[in-house]
Amino acid sequence: MNHYISYIKKVLTGKARITDKQKFSVIIYSVALVHFFLSITFGYFRVTPLFIFNVISVLAYLSCTLLIRRGHFWPVYCITYFEIILHSFVSTICIGWQFGFAQYIIALIPVGFYICYTMNSGRRKMVIATGSAFFSTVSFLSCKLLSFSTIPTYGHLMMNWELVLYIFNSICTFSFLIVFSLIFISEIKISNAQLRHQNEILDKLASTDPLTGLYNRRSMDVFLNQALKSESGFSLIMSDIDNFKSINDTYGHDFGDIVLKEVAHITTKQVGTNGYVCRWGGEEILILVSSSAKETAGRIAENIRRNVANHVFELNNKWIHCTLTLGISAYRDGETIEEAITNADYNLYQGKRSGKNKVIA
Ligand code: GH3
Ligand code: MG
Ligand code: MG
Repeated sequence: MNHYISYIKKVLTGKARITDKQKFSVIIYSVALVHFFLSITFGYFRVTPLFIFNVISVLAYLSCTLLIRRGHFWPVYCITYFEIILHSFVSTICIGWQFGFAQYIIALIPVGFYICYTMNSGRRKMVIATGSAFFSTVSFLSCKLLSFSTIPTYGHLMMNWELVLYIFNSICTFSFLIVFSLIFISEIKISNAQLRHQNEILDKLASTDPLTGLYNRRSMDVFLNQALKSESGFSLIMSDIDNFKSINDTYGHDFGDIVLKEVAHITTKQVGTNGYVCRWGGEEILILVSSSAKETAGRIAENIRRNVANHVFELNNKWIHCTLTLGISAYRDGETIEEAITNADYNLYQGKRSGKNKVIA
C-alpha cells in the first residue's frame, strides 16, 4: 500500500511518468466502479433497463483489462467513449435529464484530448481527439433535445433520489477531471525537465572539444569578448606541447591523444576558477586568466609547466615524459583580442626558440 501511495505522490509531483497501461487501468477500474454502484442503485429501484445496461457495462469494462494487458488501447478508448455516451442516452430516456448523467459526456472532451495527445501508439491522434470532441458536443445536445421529446418511463420510481444521483454524478465527473488534470500537469513537468536536460547536453557538445573536454574556439571567443568588457582586465597564456610530432611518430597517435587529454586535465586543474581553458587548435591550449596582473598568469603558467614536466604519461606499459612551452601576454587597454593573442604567441615562439619547457612573459 505504501508503495502505491509513494508512486502516486511521484506521479503527481512530476517525478515519475504514468504509462499508457496504468492510465487506461485507472480509467477502466474507476468507470467500472461507478457502473457497479449505479447497477446496485438501479436494481434497488427496479429500473430494469438501466440495471441490465450497468451490469453489462461492468462486465465489459472488466473484460477490457485483458485488452489493456495486451496493449490494445484504441479499442478500449472507443468502447469507453461510446459506452459513456450511450449510457447518457439510455438514462435520459429511462429516468430523465435532471439526474446529471450527461455531465460525463463533457468530461470526455479533455480526458479524450489528454489520452490522444499522450498515447504512444496510433496515428492522426489529434484528428481522433477533435472528432471525438465534436461527437461529444453533438451527443450532449441531442441528449438534451431527447429529454424534451420523451417522457421518462421510470422517472417516477426515483423522484426523491434526483438530487442524490445528481451530486454523485457531479462528484464522479469532477474527480475524473481533477485527477487527469493533475496527471497532465505532471507529464508536462517531466517533459520540460527532459528537454532542459537534453539542452544542457547539446550546449555542452556545442561548446566543448570532444577529445579533451576543454572549451572550443567558439566558446572562447565569447569569453574573450566578455573579458574585453570587464574592468579587471585579463591575461592570456598560449601553451604548446614540445616535440609533439615526434611523440605521435614514436608512440602512435593514440598515445598522442592520451598526452593531450592529460595535459588538458592538468591545465584545467591548475587554472581552477581563475579563468577559462580552451583547445585553440592541434596541441595548442589558450588560457584566459581573469586578471591583468602578470604575476598571477605567470604563477599559473609555471605551475602548469612544472606539473606537466613531472607527470608520467602511460599507455600499454609504455611510460614517457613530455614538456610544455608557454607564452604570456597581459592585456593592455586599446589592444584588440587578436593583438593580445599574437603577443602570447610571440612569447611562446621565443620560448620554443630558446630551448622549450619554459614560460616566457
Ligand atoms: P614544437 O615543440 O615546436 O611544438 O614541435 P611539435 O612537434 O610539437 O610541432 P607542432 O606543434 O607543429 O606539432 C603539431 C602536431 O600535433 C602535429 C599533429 O600531428 C599533432 N596533432 C594535432 N592534433 C592532434 C590530435 O588531436 N591528436 C594527436 N595525437 N596529435 C595531434
Ligand atoms: Mg608542439
Ligand atoms: Mg603546435
